[in-house]
Amino acid sequence: MVVAQVSPPVVADAGARFLAEVTSKTAGVSRLEMCIQCGSCGGSCPSASAMDHTPRAIFALIRAGKRDEVLRSNTPWMCLSCYHCVVRCPQEIEITDVMYAIKTIAEKEHAYPSNVGPDFGGVFIGQAKRFGRSWDLGLTARHYLRHFPLRLPGMTPMAFGLFRHGRIGLLPTRIRQRKQLHAILKRADELERAR
Ligand code: SF4
Ligand code: SF4
Repeated sequence: MVVAQVSPPVVADAGARFLAEVTSKTAGVSRLEMCIQCGSCGGSCPSASAMDHTPRAIFALIRAGKRDEVLRSNTPWMCLSCYHCVVRCPQEIEITDVMYAIKTIAEKEHAYPSNVGPDFGGVFIGQAKRFGRSWDLGLTARHYLRHFPLRLPGMTPMAFGLFRHGRIGLLPTRIRQRKQLHAILKRADELERAR
């Protein structure tokens, strides 16, 4: 009698493991396993055209165990945290928080598609620690000088317009209770390390 060889369900296991990993890195309850692949998230996402994969496709890749493909995708780095997708998701999946979870894993493993996103985040958090808030002019100037210097001249008219209407300041301003903010950020760091 010939006994049929049954291959172990490698893909399914990889998918389940990666799903559990992303879920464990998501703040609160992700509900990612409830995704029905309806595509409402991608359809309502203002950044979808700039993403390698729509959020729906990213969630399908997670389930398929395509860890490298997900971590090297620009999708989470293009996410604006606008929460539009979260409002429209019929399954109440915490899509924005899942994007943060993917970025957290990618950053830890230096598996991101380019250092543009992580650099931006690093400068932003540096300003938040120093001033208690972001300084838009300094953040933008530094980011573009470092990564897209040739685009800076084209942005000058917009910067002047924003300055004229009081939307950006020439100099940074500081909040008063920075010590309290530092305590919050320190606690957030501790919680993150404990995950
Ligand atoms: S809207 Fe929600 S259920 Fe639909 S594909 Fe996106 S995450 Fe999945
Ligand atoms: S939160 Fe991110 S993924 Fe969701 S709609 Fe906004 S930009 Fe797109």
